[in-house]
Amino acid sequence: MDESMYRKIPSVDKLLGMPVVEAACCDLPRKWIVNCIRDTLTEIRRRVAAGEGIELSAEAMAESAVKRARKLAAPSLRRVVNATGLVLHTNLGRAPLSERAIQQVSSVMSGYSTLEYDLAMGARGSRYEHVIDRICRLTGAEDAIVVNNNAGAVLLVLASLAAGKEVIVSRGQLVEVGGSFRIPDVMRQSGVKLVEVGATNKTRISDYQNAISSETSAIMKVHTSNYRIVGFFEQPSDGDLKQLAVERNILLVDDLGSGTLLPLELGGVKEPSVAERIAAGMDIVTFSGDKLLGGSQAGIIAGKKECIARISKHPLLRALRVDKLTLAALEGTLIDYEVGNPLHDVPTVRLLMRPVEEVQAQAEELAHKMMALRSRGWYAKAAPTIAQSGGGAFPAVDIPSYGVRLTVEGKSASAIEQALRMRDVPIICRLQDDAVYFDVRCLSAHEQALIVEACLAIAGADS
Ligand SMILES: *Cc1c(COP(=O)(O)O)cnc(C)c1O
Repeated sequence: MDESMYRKIPSVDKLLGMPVVEAACCDLPRKWIVNCIRDTLTEIRRRVAAGEGIELSAEAMAESAVKRARKLAAPSLRRVVNATGLVLHTNLGRAPLSERAIQQVSSVMSGYSTLEYDLAMGARGSRYEHVIDRICRLTGAEDAIVVNNNAGAVLLVLASLAAGKEVIVSRGQLVEVGGSFRIPDVMRQSGVKLVEVGATNKTRISDYQNAISSETSAIMKVHTSNYRIVGFFEQPSDGDLKQLAVERNILLVDDLGSGTLLPLELGGVKEPSVAERIAAGMDIVTFSGDKLLGGSQAGIIAGKKECIARISKHPLLRALRVDKLTLAALEGTLIDYEVGNPLHDVPTVRLLMRPVEEVQAQAEELAHKMMALRSRGWYAKAAPTIAQSGGGAFPAVDIPSYGVRLTVEGKSASAIEQALRMRDVPIICRLQDDAVYFDVRCLSAHEQALIVEACLAIAGADS
């Protein structure tokens, strides 16, 4: 290895004196920058030792150290622009919160709160009280409780109502919901014995009937959130299931997944509302707080008083406990439903229901703003797209949407997509037939302006 290469590597002090580093010292602690310079030099020595031919100018190293210092000082979890057309994008944080929810979180976080304090009594209260009555009024349930997420809700419900006993599930509903949440696995974890009945496409009331034994504790229904069976398909009616459950004295538990509070319909598909499921006689319904409901990550358990009482006494409740941020955001969102206009106030619902004409007009406006880039070989054109709900709702429903299709002369679509992703406020878009697509359904006016700004900057950096 070439010893002279090492000698060319500048000292920490030399880099500290360089103008870019001195400038960075105005807004970052010197000690932080020194550490980053050390790490940068260690990395360079390693690469030299590995025989990599690297540029060793002091300027380049100083730049690289400052870049590292800024990157490590900035938060990793941050805001992005969702131009994918997937409204409930789990990787992008699912539901964006409503104004009221944001206000609630901000207010509760800024100081002490009534989290577990009963103001009227001047004594200890329950954190769940803030949302229970609201959930009951919105769903018609007798009682409710909230945990960390819906996976936790299912686990807790089974563990507290059916541990050591049998729970019957139709083979058509033994689903996997996203990464590593499979109904059979959750049932095993909760100490319940799964009894499968029926076939993938057909389960009859007699299948349930024949499976009930003295060990049976419940029949569980699972919403098939992410796929649809079409064609030769059968499940017993809620009325028949309810009658059977009452006759044999077993519980009906419904994992609803998304769980909308409004009767929502898209593309001819209706998502059952929580109120409908409660009215259909389910003893317990579980659903997510950050799917169609449009609030914070939470698992909501609603249903019969005596069931909720048993669930509330189980030690797992403490392990799955929700924090004050979650509760503040959830309560804010529930107030939107109770006294606001959820179709307007709750972003998830509003974005899903936006009429395509409105989305098209917005796409045309964005394409028009990008006309300024035409002379540089950037071709943007409004184009129809297909948006999707995501978040375990409206599976396989294509939502007619609109976006901007962008191609750039002499550049691949994936290079543009990557440059957009590397922005301070990253822009997440879609690639299709070697073009970049910005679906505008989920974009605010501000986010739309960020896209234009990003494209101008990327095009400018090229010339
Ligand atoms: C999404 C979903 C879950 C998991 O809910 P999380 O809130 O993500 O934990 C469970 N069951 C069904 C049917 C779902 O759709």
